[in-house]
Order: sequence, then C-alpha cells, then structure tokens
Amino acid sequence: MAKYLVKITIPSIQDIIVRSRKLKDLTGGSKLIPTIMKSGLKTLENDNNEKKVEFIIPTDDVIKGDDLNITNVAYFTIEGEKEQVIEKVKHMKEEMLKGLNTLVDTVRRKISDNKKFDTYEGLINYQIKNAINIVWAISEIKDNNIVKAKNDVDVAVANAKSSKEPDGKFIEGFNLIQKQKNQYSAFKNYQDFIEKAYQITPELIRGAYLCDVCGKRVILGATKNNFKSSITEKDEEDRLCAFCYAKRHYHGEDKKSVVDVALAKYYAKHGNKIREIFKNHGKTDLLNDNKQNIYIEVLENNEEDPALIESLKELYKEIGKPPVYYAIVVMDGDSMGEKISNAFEENMIKDITKKLSEFSKEIRKIVKENSGMLIYSGGDDVLALFPLETALEGYKEIVEKFKEHMGNDFTASAGLVISHYKIPLSYVLQEARSAESKAKKVDGKDAVYIKYIKHSFSSAEAPIKNDHLQLFEKLRSFVSDDDFTFGFIYQLQELLLPYLPETEDEKHVEELTKYLIEKKPYKRKDDFAKFMSNTKKLFDFKEPEKIINTLKVAKFIASGV
Ligand SMILES: [Zn+2]
Repeated sequence: MAKYLVKITIPSIQDIIVRSRKLKDLTGGSKLIPTIMKSGLKTLENDNNEKKVEFIIPTDDVIKGDDLNITNVAYFTIEGEKEQVIEKVKHMKEEMLKGLNTLVDTVRRKISDNKKFDTYEGLINYQIKNAINIVWAISEIKDNNIVKAKNDVDVAVANAKSSKEPDGKFIEGFNLIQKQKNQYSAFKNYQDFIEKAYQITPELIRGAYLCDVCGKRVILGATKNNFKSSITEKDEEDRLCAFCYAKRHYHGEDKKSVVDVALAKYYAKHGNKIREIFKNHGKTDLLNDNKQNIYIEVLENNEEDPALIESLKELYKEIGKPPVYYAIVVMDGDSMGEKISNAFEENMIKDITKKLSEFSKEIRKIVKENSGMLIYSGGDDVLALFPLETALEGYKEIVEKFKEHMGNDFTASAGLVISHYKIPLSYVLQEARSAESKAKKVDGKDAVYIKYIKHSFSSAEAPIKNDHLQLFEKLRSFVSDDDFTFGFIYQLQELLLPYLPETEDEKHVEELTKYLIEKKPYKRKDDFAKFMSNTKKLFDFKEPEKIINTLKVAKFIASGV
C-alpha cells in the first residue's frame, strides 16, 4: 500500500498570536492555535493506533496529552490510497475549522444583546472564518525517500496561496471607505487602496475604521454614518473586530495584566500587608478591580483617599516600592529549519522531535518557579513573561534546558525586553521579536539580546552570548553596589564620545575608562577596573558604544527600578 507524507500548517501564526494590546489577547491567541491544531490531529488518533498514521511533528504523546505545546506545523504519514488520504486530511481540516468556529459562540456569549449579534452575524462569521488559514499538501513516499517527499510538501505549502478571494458583501470597511470616494477612485481596487491609504492617512485606516488589535478587519459595529461606532467598546476600551474580540475572551474572563507579572514576586511576598492596608481604608475593591492601584502615582492621579496613599507610602518605605517592570522573553532554536531538514535526511527526525517535546514540557515548570507566566512553548519556540527580578535567571534556565535536551549541536537565541507596564504591549512584543532577530545576527548566534524600555521610552540594548551570561551576572553584581551609579555610565559615555560607536584606538578607550573609574568614590573600583580589562568577552575596547550599552543594561537590571 502507498504511503504519503502530509504537511499541514496554520501560516502567519505570529500575526495571529502576537498582535495584542492586552495580555489576554496574547494568552487567548496562544491557546487558540494549538487547540485548533490538536483538534485536527486528534481525528487521526484511531488510524495512529492501527499504525496507518505515524506522527512525526509533533510526536503522538504530545497529541494524546493535555498540554498545549504544539507548533503550528505538523508532519505525519498516512498509509492508503490517494483518495482516502485526501479525504482524511480534508476531514481533519474541517475539524480544525469547527474549532475556529467556536469563536462565533464566544462573540455571541459576550454580546448579550441578541439583536446586535443578529445584525452583525454575517460579518462576525465572515471575519472569524477568514481569520485563520489552513494550508496542507501531500506527497507519496516512493522508495522510502521521505526526504524527497518532505521537499515536495514544503514547496507545495510555500506556494499555496494564503489569501482567499474576499467576499464582496463583507469586504471590510468597503462601505465605510466610500466616504473617502475621492481617495478610493485613485487606486486600482480595494486591496490597493487599503495598502496605500495607510501611508497617506494612517489615522483613517487604523484609528477610525479598522480593529485596534489586528488593524486588518473592520470594527464590529462601525457604520457608514458612524465609523467610530463599536459594539465592543462598552466593555473593552478598544474597538475590535469579531476575531480579536473572540480571541480576547477565548479562555474566560482572566483579568491578569502585565502588572500582575511585574508584581508577581513582590506581591507574593508583601501581598498580605498591602491587602490589609486597602482593607483598613475600606478600599479592598479598588485593589481587586485593578492591580495598578498598588502604585502611588496611579492613586494620586485618580485622586484617591489621601489617608490610604499615606499608609501605603509608609509601608513602601519599609518594604520597597512595588516594581513597575516586567520582561518578555522570546526564544527559539538557531537554524531550526535547516536542522529539521538534516534530521529528515539522516533519519533522525523522530529523535529530534521527541527531544523537542521533552524540552517543551519542562518550560512550564521553569517559568513557574521564576514567578513568570508562560504564553506558549511548542517545539523549540518559547514566549514567556517574567518579573524583572527573575527574568534573566528564568531565561538562563530555559536556554540551559534547551542545550541539555538537544545536545551540543543545537543552540538557541532570544530577545529579552524589559518594559515599564505602561508601554503598550503590542509595542513591547514587537520589540521582543526584533530583539530576537538581532540576537540571531550576533556572530555564531547562541545569544540573547537584552533591551529595556522606560516609561519615557528611553532605552538601551546589548547583545550577550549565552556562554557569557555568567560573566554578565558578575557584571551585574558589580554594578548593583549602591555606590556604583548610573551617573558613572553617562560620564563614561560623554568621555568616550569621540570614539563612538567603534574605534581602532582601543588603547585610548581603555585608558580613559580606567581614568574615570579611578576618579570615582566607588569602593570596589580596583576590582572593577581589573574585571573590565580582563573580560574581553564582554568588553571589547574597540567597541565603546557596546560597552556603554552593556553597562546600562546591567545597571538597569541590577537597580530594578
Ligand atoms: Zn481585529
């Protein structure tokens, strides 16, 4: 009997998951994709038991288990006649679309006003049905040549057009955009308009007409006469399309925000005392409604009870102020596409996917132990949030675990972005992804790109090789001394200005650096000067700008303000 290799994938997963304004957009999206993937793969379980189907990526234990650590790409083999195989894959896709369709019920549940739901039902269905694309391909495995079959399905899937023909009745914003007829007529078609109009009047396209989260689909409830109208904004602040609205509420009413992540460690330690103060002032609800009310500046802005504010100030003098920073870690294996292809060739693919799924399962524990929040881990991919205090340690443990499971041939790189809780999440996510791609550009990859973003948007960033994390820890310990100030780093920056960003005159840079350290009242200055001179892996005096940024990032993490 013939045997076929099948590849099935949900493309642009990053777009679906990472486009988020609130934490629950992110958690909802990251739960949705594996749930859909899994519901499809589960249709093949019987065939798998009868040995007609063999799962390659992900492995069968992942499909059977409850964990949602599945990637958005699956490879498996099916034995049978071509028509049968196609039938099975089609059935699988139908099940996945059914899973997607449960989002319509989520919207129905959330919009308590049935009339409103009915009015927009067509658009809701359309937006949800078209939000996710499922692409698949099969190729017969002839002469046991699975490598050739893999090439075939890879090419076919890559070529499969991801876009569907829009349904004229529901083309998003079409009616609304008629208001801007003059502009529209200048372009070839709707698609052309949307793409170019954004450059001309972004507020028109992004702010007024399209969903605040995805920026792609029209706001649910917007009409020609009132393009700002939204049936989601009453309980949402944001004006959303049906898909993003459903994604946000996909797993119940989780109220967690990035503030909860920033405070995780602090609140676990001091929560009792803080809750008691709110209780004593009859303000328990205030804290329950919104964790941000733990911050003095928020309470003051809202002109809350001055007595409560005074009591909290007293407490914070004793236990320290509540932290305002959290970190996003985005990590994945280096050159994984190439490694997976090689593994197919060397007939090692099952071994690799098994190791990957074992790695993936351990992440939850590491993240939890470091007071973080796991968004997803599937295969070599990890996205997790941590409070600032534990972010570096959490990342270190994850990357060590990756190497431990995968062996020396495998490395991983990551973006680690530390942000003030008030910076928009969508921006921080984007920065985290871009930090990850910068880490991949570091010579030899195997690195983490660390960046911090303050409330004022001022920032600094530095790449650290994974092997140098211990040294970075040592640096952090130096700069965490109270008498080592940020002021020193700014003075150094000024002093080295003529040599930035890079120079051949490393001798001078080193001398000036030592000179400045020598002038400081810093107690451990001799040790620190030696450390800088001897640690070429962190401090290359030919690259003074990198040195300054490394110091800034280390000091920032150490001070944890
Ligand atoms: Zn949307």
